[in-house]
Amino acid sequence: MAESKIPYKINLSENEIPKAWHNVRADMKTAHRPMLHPGTLQPVTPDDLRPVFCDRLVAQELNDKDRFIEIPGPVLDFYRMYRPSPLVRAYFLEKALDTPARIYYKYEGGNTSGSHKLNSAIAQAYYAKEQGLKGVTTETGAGQWGTALSMACGYFGLDCRVYMVKVSSEQKPYRKAVMETYGATVTPSPSGTTQIGRKMLADDPDTTGSLGCAISEAVEAAVSTEGYRYVLGSVLNQVLLHQSIVGLEAKAALEKYGESPDILIGCAGGGSNLGGLMAPFMGDRLAGRKAPRFIAVEPASCPSMTRGRFAYDFCDTGKVTPLAKMYTLGSAFIPASNHAGGLRYHGMSPILSQLYHDGYLDEARAVGQLGVFEAAKLFAKVEGLLPAPESAHAIRVAIDEALKCRESGEAKTILFGLTGTGYFDMAAYMQHNDGTMEDYVPTDADLARGFAGLPEVAAE
Ligand SMILES: *Cc1c(COP(=O)(O)O)cnc(C)c1O
Repeated sequence: MAESKIPYKINLSENEIPKAWHNVRADMKTAHRPMLHPGTLQPVTPDDLRPVFCDRLVAQELNDKDRFIEIPGPVLDFYRMYRPSPLVRAYFLEKALDTPARIYYKYEGGNTSGSHKLNSAIAQAYYAKEQGLKGVTTETGAGQWGTALSMACGYFGLDCRVYMVKVSSEQKPYRKAVMETYGATVTPSPSGTTQIGRKMLADDPDTTGSLGCAISEAVEAAVSTEGYRYVLGSVLNQVLLHQSIVGLEAKAALEKYGESPDILIGCAGGGSNLGGLMAPFMGDRLAGRKAPRFIAVEPASCPSMTRGRFAYDFCDTGKVTPLAKMYTLGSAFIPASNHAGGLRYHGMSPILSQLYHDGYLDEARAVGQLGVFEAAKLFAKVEGLLPAPESAHAIRVAIDEALKCRESGEAKTILFGLTGTGYFDMAAYMQHNDGTMEDYVPTDADLARGFAGLPEVAAE
């Protein structure tokens, strides 16, 4: 390795942090379908969205014209505290796999929140502050988004109210503690603090909660509290926009060494890290230039792209949010608790959904939990970095693709997103260590229950 031309870490300098985000919607051939108002089922207007989201984010959400959107100075300043994030050549993984493939990963787990979610949290908190709001509400599943948002709100002096899926708040007390340390209020969901939460509890007092339900509570709390707006950590167009910083940095770093990926891999929960990593590369594809093969990886337990429907659906269980056209398992689908908490969402980013539907996002692949943890542990041993279970979905497929190269002798270049650290997921690693972890795959009958709840929308 010492004599290799390409270093283990390709570092960009601070001045090379991109100054603008890449809005992939401006590149897309098919405009994705408009969001629909939950009451009227008509396309939403900016006025419909402004009670929920702050004004500048509404504009970003609906913007399909501007390819580049300038990053505000205070957001760039914050980015400088933890970016550029490292782009690493996984020499030791390549060696362990005895593959001719060249493997790179972009590591987003090096900040205190432990994941890429901080990239959007800081932007969303900034726009809320700029508008003079008092605070924001949100939900968190595994806890990463709530942690990132609490850091961002702590920095800008905004109040932060987090509805945390009940099962996660019980399993991850340290996540909760970090959020509270940064000044956030954390409420396990469903809770008695909202109408929707009280209804959920009345219907099923033992419910462990779901992301969709926590979203409903957070939206209700935002629209019924003066000076508050709701923010979301994935799925939305604005979040993919902010996450494009990941792809822009990765592309700039690779280009320094004349590298361009043949395969680009990301785990997909709501689609934000993959959407961000692939944005500039997808721009190339949509403009007819050379581009990688894109692979989205999801858990077999929550297979929205591989087994879901491309349909209009609510983004939450309580049906208070606008409807989006996306790959979905139905907003009533509650995935079995598994350890890739950040990947347990019933739907998928409308941008990724449309690109997948149109064949630009080449493949979605569902992987089982046991195989994911085997990949995670191999990676931890040879690359010296303990990955988040979510990220390990991408590692699994990167390894599988590299093993194919070993068979074929092709020296492909593989780039994947390593979205986070595994430090807060030791309960999952403990289960894998003691052999009690299982692979869970929903049956067709399980999925049919989710599909039965899909709204009927005439205007498809
Ligand atoms: C939230 C999260 C994900 C999944 O979310 P996306 O919006 O699909 O990127 C993946 N990895 C980590 C570490 C996360 O926290």
